[in-house]
Amino acid sequence: MQIAMIQDKIVPIKELDPVYLDRGIFFGDGIYEVVRSYDGRIFTLEEHLQRFANSLSAIEISRVDIDRIRSRVLKSFDVAGISNARIYFHVTRGSELRKHLSNPDLEPVFFLTVTELEDHTQAKTKGIEVSTHPDWRWKRCDIKSLNLLANVLARRDAAAKGCAEAILVNEAGLITEGASSAFFAISEQTLQTAALTANILPSITRQFVIKAGGNIGLKTTEKSLTPQQASDADELFIASTTQDIIPVVKFDGKLIGDGKPGEYTKLLIRQFLSLTA
Ligand code: PLP
Repeated sequence: MQIAMIQDKIVPIKELDPVYLDRGIFFGDGIYEVVRSYDGRIFTLEEHLQRFANSLSAIEISRVDIDRIRSRVLKSFDVAGISNARIYFHVTRGSELRKHLSNPDLEPVFFLTVTELEDHTQAKTKGIEVSTHPDWRWKRCDIKSLNLLANVLARRDAAAKGCAEAILVNEAGLITEGASSAFFAISEQTLQTAALTANILPSITRQFVIKAGGNIGLKTTEKSLTPQQASDADELFIASTTQDIIPVVKFDGKLIGDGKPGEYTKLLIRQFLSLTA
């Protein structure tokens, strides 16, 4: 008899809930998105759906209808009734007995959660500490893949050092991005962040930060920084969908500026918020 064991419980394979055989679990064989709402309105849903479609196409999962995904997102957001919500959704290649090469007829599996966003006020007003970690990820970080082990390990290392985010450094000694955020420096009225060609996720927040920067008179340079350049910058911050902009006040133990969120970063936070309204 073919069986499975879940903790101490033996279950015949035929009776096993397919959720246990999801390729997302065995291989991280799927892709995901996270969108959020501000005061009852979902922000940049179309941009996230486009990136979702790009990720699906990059890992060759077909037969997923983006219009249907959009309807599911809107419906679940409506049902949840949470005004500042985090909407997480993923598609995996499907569920079947474990084998590397999947059955070509496998039905992709969709999963979504709508949850309350945490309050980031304290991090926004006081700033956070970050620490560097080698970027151990693969070479297709443009795909929002479910494989996040390297990101998780980097974040654990940062937490062990009392830091809120890990800043990833590639083999050339250049900063790519945060474990779950884009990374920016500001010096001499210029925003600096890695180019999209630097094996990073094409962050949606990054696009809007650059736009917000333009609105307050900051130029943008898309060029990777070394950790030394980052620690010498006037201001640093990280950016992501769920937290938008969070000032960084300590980088690998070194105070940035006077150890308080920078003036441009504070202006950017306000400008960014105005774009979400
Ligand atoms: N970079 C990485 C590795 C991420 O995981 C994330 C978000 O989760 C980001 C950047 C920020 O992307 P976005 O602004 O689209 O949320």
